[in-house]
Amino acid sequence: MIQPVAVIGAGPFGLSTAAHLRARGIPVRVFGEPMVSWRDNMPAGMLLKSTPAASGIDAPQRGNTLADYCDAAGIPRLVTDEDIIPVETFIAYGEWFQQRLVPELERVRVVSVDRGRTEGAGFELKLDSGELFTARAVVVASGLFGLAHLPGELAGAAVDGPTPTGPVSHSSQHHDLARFAGKDLIVVGAGQSALETAVLAAEAGAKVRVVARGRGAVDFGAPPWKQPRLRPESPFGRAWSLYALSYYPQPYRHLPEATRHYLVRRVLGPLGAWWLRERFQRHVQVREVARVVRAGVVDGRPLLTVRSHQGRMEELSADHVIAATGYRVDLGAMGFLGHELRTELAVSRGTPRLGAGFRSSMAGLYFTGLPAAASYGPVMRFVCGTGFASPRLARHLAAAHG
Ligand SMILES: Cc1cc2nc3c(=O)[nH]c(=O)nc-3n(C[C@H](O)[C@H](O)[C@H](O)COP(=O)(O)OP(=O)(O)OC[C@H]3O[C@@H](n4cnc5c(N)ncnc54)[C@H](O)[C@@H]3O)c2cc1C
Repeated sequence: MIQPVAVIGAGPFGLSTAAHLRARGIPVRVFGEPMVSWRDNMPAGMLLKSTPAASGIDAPQRGNTLADYCDAAGIPRLVTDEDIIPVETFIAYGEWFQQRLVPELERVRVVSVDRGRTEGAGFELKLDSGELFTARAVVVASGLFGLAHLPGELAGAAVDGPTPTGPVSHSSQHHDLARFAGKDLIVVGAGQSALETAVLAAEAGAKVRVVARGRGAVDFGAPPWKQPRLRPESPFGRAWSLYALSYYPQPYRHLPEATRHYLVRRVLGPLGAWWLRERFQRHVQVREVARVVRAGVVDGRPLLTVRSHQGRMEELSADHVIAATGYRVDLGAMGFLGHELRTELAVSRGTPRLGAGFRSSMAGLYFTGLPAAASYGPVMRFVCGTGFASPRLARHLAAAHG
């Protein structure tokens, strides 16, 4: 019997990769909950920062764009840079894409992946249904799962880890921010997730302060009609650097290691969406600090010690602190990858080192989406990265294991 390829993940990257592999006639088994990160780990009422042009899940066939979904659903087409996408619409688009192009998706968790016992024997997977099977190749598209990052200075108020009901949580642990109505809330961070979480909680009735590191840390992008005209267009705005990173990520992996990691962190870094500015200024206070020094808990309430720009130590307390402090790729946190496999893989600062076609240092094991960002650049953190990643990954895999 021909062994299938296993795709772990049913978010935009897993679904897109699976659609490309299927179109090449490669047998696949695809695992995961469709669009679950968007449904459970992002706030209800969120609007996407990415424009419609940058929010397509790449497919090998025509007719599967966000605009196609809008037509099929009978809702107004989202196409221009001024059209803003509600997260609920994007989830429905992903589910529609899945039903059309990856109908055989298995809503099952992969518990473990280990290398086959003999050379060339592929990979052994265990599912939480108890089933064991062998795959000739594995694509890891597990996205944000397990990668939420809580900085060390906040850990003192979250000894057993962040929890939505404890003093400190991570932004990924909230779907319904209405639970903070009437509460005093601090949101730590200055990226879109921090700023939008703050606005949504404030609009739901919370008193919200954003604590951000650095002077002028809270800022918002320019609206489409104010983008510079003489620079090339890219899904992220008009700039030569963004154009190169969006359309030519191929040479990225040949840059020096420190440069690659720096660019993934800094390019398209903390900046609110243009349409959020007014709502933010109306509802949310900002406290700029030189840094958060530590966090503790007093009488069940979180207490942040911060250093001001004048060098003074100050204390800020609230009913709850949300750390909107992003995600860090760490192979060690991908518990489903067997220990032997994780220790054998070539890594670069905790991220898998990828070669041509998104292949890891182990034949037959591929990574796409966020874990590929250190090799192929910041575009892999966003849905539009599927347009570059999926056809290349599928082509490489078909040539090597087809
Ligand atoms: C608040 C927020 C807002 C964002 N807004 C935007 C935006 O506007 N535009 C944009 O382009 N990007 C945005 N992003 C980034 C976006 O989340 C990623 O680009 C995208 O979700 C990555 O897709 P993915 O398929 O790699 O992973 P995910 O969407 O995270 O999907 C992961 C999949 O893996 C599955 N999975 C994980 N572990 C296992 C396992 N062991 N077994 C089986 N299945 C497993 C899950 O069930 C799920 O199906 C945002 C991120 C956040 C946090």
